[in-house]
Amino acid sequence: MTATQQLTLLIDGDAGYDEARTVWNAMVDRRPAAIARCHDTADVVAAVRYAREHDLEIGVRCGGHNIAGLAVPEGGLMIDLTPMNEVRVDPERQVAWVQGGGLLGELDRAAQAYGLATTAGNVSHTGVGGLTLGGGMGWLARQFGLACDNVISYELVTAAGDVVTASATENAELFWGLRGGGGNFGIVTAFEFRLHQIGTRTLVTEFTYAWDEAFAVLRGWRDLNATAPRQATFTANIRGEELVVGFVWVGDPAEGAALIPAFRSLGTIVAESIEEMPYLTLQSRDDSVQGHRFRRYWKGHYFKSLPDDAIRALLRNPGIGASLQAYGGAISDVPDEDAAFSHRDVMFEFVTATRWEDAADDADRIATIRAYAATLDPYAGGAYINTLNGESVSRAFPPAKLARLTALKNTYDPTNTFHLNQNIRPTVS
Ligand SMILES: Cc1cc2nc3c(=O)[nH]c(=O)nc-3n(C[C@H](O)[C@H](O)[C@H](O)COP(=O)(O)OP(=O)(O)OC[C@H]3O[C@@H](n4cnc5c(N)ncnc54)[C@H](O)[C@@H]3O)c2cc1C
Repeated sequence: MTATQQLTLLIDGDAGYDEARTVWNAMVDRRPAAIARCHDTADVVAAVRYAREHDLEIGVRCGGHNIAGLAVPEGGLMIDLTPMNEVRVDPERQVAWVQGGGLLGELDRAAQAYGLATTAGNVSHTGVGGLTLGGGMGWLARQFGLACDNVISYELVTAAGDVVTASATENAELFWGLRGGGGNFGIVTAFEFRLHQIGTRTLVTEFTYAWDEAFAVLRGWRDLNATAPRQATFTANIRGEELVVGFVWVGDPAEGAALIPAFRSLGTIVAESIEEMPYLTLQSRDDSVQGHRFRRYWKGHYFKSLPDDAIRALLRNPGIGASLQAYGGAISDVPDEDAAFSHRDVMFEFVTATRWEDAADDADRIATIRAYAATLDPYAGGAYINTLNGESVSRAFPPAKLARLTALKNTYDPTNTFHLNQNIRPTVS
């Protein structure tokens, strides 16, 4: 490939090659034949065409947070979007325009300069690209829907190397599929987002209870969630014999504080933390604990209800991190058929995750997560596409959705050029 004016090509041994192929999960150690560092849409078109002409497997990198490191193809062409991180905000129209390689922190910071925001995930070094294409859950989702529900339009480079726009009025079926269907249909070079006036203030609460009351507390928390205001997102964290529940409130902290007495009456509290913080602090407070360089493994489930037996299973935790985050509100206002994203009736998203540093511990760590997640499998109603870790996409999409997504894949990528993702396989090649 002849490098365009801006496109930088890196091969093994070049300065920056190792940095560019390093992703969030330190278990991923693959060596692409080349890394195409793209600066604009024309670079992405050139990279896709080159990979196809030379039969190179394509990986697409934005934030590099995919747990399996799908962005990095062994021996293939990694299309690195990270230089494409420009964000522009129009405060009058309440719209943000984000290049395909942008990170959540860049979007949040640009929008918050005007007291604006759209739904974005909880760790600021996550990519807008992967997160939004899979749906995009965050503290604003119960008020304003998922990240994908706030996309007005996408600019996309297809497998054929064409540049197309998808919106509610242009290429509407593609727009439908991009709202939750992952990176299957092409490379998004720009997202246009609807923003909301949210101010800058939040309240974050965490209550730790006596362990012998954990079952009753988690039941009470579940029941309280059913009537929670949309500004509140309920959270629960279990590790070994410790249960911490609470909520994140985006809006006036004084209003959020009205929920605190109900939490205090759930059981005997042994520790509590009640903190007001700016929205930008909330959005980056887990950045270090969720930092790079660790080996990582996780499994996720969606729970559409949380029966008592599921609570008992959750509390038999083998000393590893497990979290629940509430869905509902505006997420479930959107009719299921409106977007590829499925399971909008989910009550809680569950993730169990672990991190470690020594490769000798890989097998044990992975086995522990799998065994614990398996005990919760009977209560699962699917899973979030962005937490799938080796499982089939049928966990994320019911059969009718998968059939419609397959038809769209047949149209836009019949030879499965884009397959290093949560793959929807075409049926026509
Ligand atoms: C620390 C951490 C916190 C997280 N928090 C949340 C959260 O709060 N909410 C939530 O919903 N999810 C969350 N996730 C899950 C996250 O949404 C997925 O890991 C997602 O894949 C990350 O996207 P990325 O761009 O960072 O990853 P990458 O590994 O760069 O990309 C993942 C895949 O997305 C596709 N892709 C990325 N960008 C593009 C693009 N521009 N065009 C086409 N395809 C593209 C590609 O198929 C690529 O393989 C979190 C993950 C981590 C590791």
